[in-house]
Amino acid sequence: MKKLTIDDCRLPIVTAAAALAAALTLAAQAPKIIVVRAARMLDPVAGRIVATPTIVIAGDRIQSVGGPTPSGATAIDLGDLTLVPGLVDAHTHNLLQPEDEITPPVFTKSQAYRAIEGVAAVKKNLEAGFTTMRDLDSEGAGFADVALRDAINKGVVPGPRLLVATYALTITAGHMNLTGVNPDLNVPDPATLTDSRDAMIAEIRREVKYGADWIKLYATGTLRHVNQQTLEPLPQVSLDDVKAVVAEAARWRKDVAAHAYGGIGARNAVEGGVRSIEHGWILDDDTLRLMVQKGTFWCPTLSVFRPEAGIGTPDEFSRRVVESHKRTFQAGMKAGVKIVFGTDVGGFPHGTNNREFSYMVEYGMTPLEAIRSATTRAAELLRMEKDIGAIAPGHYADLIAVQGDPLQNIEAIKNVRFVMKGGEVYVRPAGTSRTSPSQHD
Ligand SMILES: [Zn+2]
Repeated sequence: MKKLTIDDCRLPIVTAAAALAAALTLAAQAPKIIVVRAARMLDPVAGRIVATPTIVIAGDRIQSVGGPTPSGATAIDLGDLTLVPGLVDAHTHNLLQPEDEITPPVFTKSQAYRAIEGVAAVKKNLEAGFTTMRDLDSEGAGFADVALRDAINKGVVPGPRLLVATYALTITAGHMNLTGVNPDLNVPDPATLTDSRDAMIAEIRREVKYGADWIKLYATGTLRHVNQQTLEPLPQVSLDDVKAVVAEAARWRKDVAAHAYGGIGARNAVEGGVRSIEHGWILDDDTLRLMVQKGTFWCPTLSVFRPEAGIGTPDEFSRRVVESHKRTFQAGMKAGVKIVFGTDVGGFPHGTNNREFSYMVEYGMTPLEAIRSATTRAAELLRMEKDIGAIAPGHYADLIAVQGDPLQNIEAIKNVRFVMKGGEVYVRPAGTSRTSPSQHD
């Protein structure tokens, strides 16, 4: 008979302790199950309203839509609201505030102060229903957009999923290069001056090194560069410049967004292979056709050019810009350009991005087309079709709920009563029933 040793006696205790530890670990790892119900759900993929949906969420992802309710799940019953996928604003500046359009913030605000303003901005934008944002350059706040993105991802501050561009590439005397400044003063540049192709390539590498998700290129100048008679924008890049930028970005698996109003600068951007054109308020028919051919996306950012944005005093010139924008928007729709929802928020108050929906519908989109531009279409631009833009199994649990039916009346999309991002609730209507608390209430 084998003699029992001390080790043999301890074995069952050790095994039990290990089993308990394993069970505890499993319990800790088991994702939280939430069931969300509402009167309606807008399915932008099918293009219709679904009655009484049941969404089962496990952790940060959607597990099933319309399936059975698992036992022990936390229930959120939203009553007479309409569920919509979390919205995407594909052109934002969380580090920019409306007053910065008048006084360049590099003169008056530290980057630290601007980062704090950014924390407030992302919260407002999330609460307005925007669960993902492509933030297209920090406009002089350095890499504060990277910090903001990372802090949100770590749960330090609430905000949308951010894809950030850090600095934009520009040229001396071009867009975002301050003029009228005493040349003896050393003022920080809001964008990076890249006056040669080598400089562009080096800047892309620096931005990738410090955390850029996208590369932003100023392919044309800004409004002050536009010919007041012909409305011809200032081209800032050649076709070969754009090709070099796109190729270098592709090395790092990054895409390029080009600020481009129209003219030869926009044409070069499209031909050179950028993934999206920003603004484009005077794109000509040939360029629009080329965009369709090449699959180039377009973020018109109607909001920031409208007089309601409150930038400066509306005059004859800005009236002509808005007119041209509307005409181009309608031509782009007719041609079949992939139009994505983008606002340039920051140039007007954060959290009011959903005004863009009204302008899109005013200019001729159906409410469904406008909502698709901020969901399915935007997901395609960001190469995140499997993660965002739809309420479907496997996608992030990014859901909002609005009062009313936005397919009947687009204004309903502004009545946001509930916001969930990655399974966490950030906005909840008063009196909503549920069975367990959320850390963000
Ligand atoms: Zn912008």
